[in-house]
Amino acid sequence: QKAEWNKLKNEKTYTADGKHIELAANIGTPKDLVGVKENGGEAIGLYRTEFLYMDSPDFPTEDAQFEAYKTILEGMGDKAVVVRTMDIGGDKELPYLTLPHEMNPFLGYRAIHICLAEPDMFKTQLRALLRASVFGKLRIMFPMIATLGEFRKAKAMLLEEKQNLKNEGIAVSDNIEVGIMIEIPAAAILADKFAKEVDFFSIGTNDLIQYTMAADRMNEQVSYLYQPYNPSILRLIKGVIDASHKEGKWTGMCGEMAGDQTAVPLLMGLGLDEFSMSASSILKTRSLMKRLDSTKMAELADKAINDCDTAEEVVSLVTEYTK
Ligand code: PEP
Ligand code: MG
Repeated sequence: QKAEWNKLKNEKTYTADGKHIELAANIGTPKDLVGVKENGGEAIGLYRTEFLYMDSPDFPTEDAQFEAYKTILEGMGDKAVVVRTMDIGGDKELPYLTLPHEMNPFLGYRAIHICLAEPDMFKTQLRALLRASVFGKLRIMFPMIATLGEFRKAKAMLLEEKQNLKNEGIAVSDNIEVGIMIEIPAAAILADKFAKEVDFFSIGTNDLIQYTMAADRMNEQVSYLYQPYNPSILRLIKGVIDASHKEGKWTGMCGEMAGDQTAVPLLMGLGLDEFSMSASSILKTRSLMKRLDSTKMAELADKAINDCDTAEEVVSLVTEYTK
């Protein structure tokens, strides 16, 4: 099987009926580029920049960040790189950023909420990203967006820094896509409004599922509620994809669900445009997609959403359809 997968390394991903789907990789450091190349990644769908902060004794400087972003963008050439701005908080801590103890860290002060409250820290990252933008195909993504107000503020700060750099005579790309993660139910529900203002969505199912099911993703006792195939989750995902397509935008997914071999047929059927996963899952997913017909998977997704009551029923349906 491995040998068969390896043959797909230099191919793009097409379904049995010839539809192109972008298969991208999630990375945590510039070193992960090697794995992306070895596994035939068509893009980087999520670069988790918080590791840059976690691996550093103090806030990483603008230059240090610029070097990391440039390395990745140059390394990928004309292939797109989605860089997610810092997502600290929740389960990820920084020794040099003391935050008050919280009862519910996953519902607390994290990610974009911190960035908007600490503009100097956020601007440093935005400047580093903008300076690196001329070295490749950059897409910037904001995590944990709950309201349109947050997105507008973050985007305004980005545009302000872009203007500042231009005034300083520093080159910045004019083709940077700016998108958001959909990982808070409020944003998923309001996707039609967001779709008018963003360039793309990337669904973060790791968080979206925990917030929708009200079940902490780290808590074993409620792990049975962590149900990617629950029809409620599928409906939420469908709403987001449809809303983006209505506005001519695209939707990807960078949560674990994107590389789940039971979820892939469903997500294909829902019309997901980009799947981003750990590099080691790319080739087996490409092989699976090649064997699936997108029209038939659309029928499957439709049944899962309309006829199934439970996650178990959805799994049986997928098994039947992909036999
Ligand atoms: C997610 O929430 O699905 C996601 C990709 O982000 P993280 O796992 O880093 O929270
Ligand atoms: Mg997340």
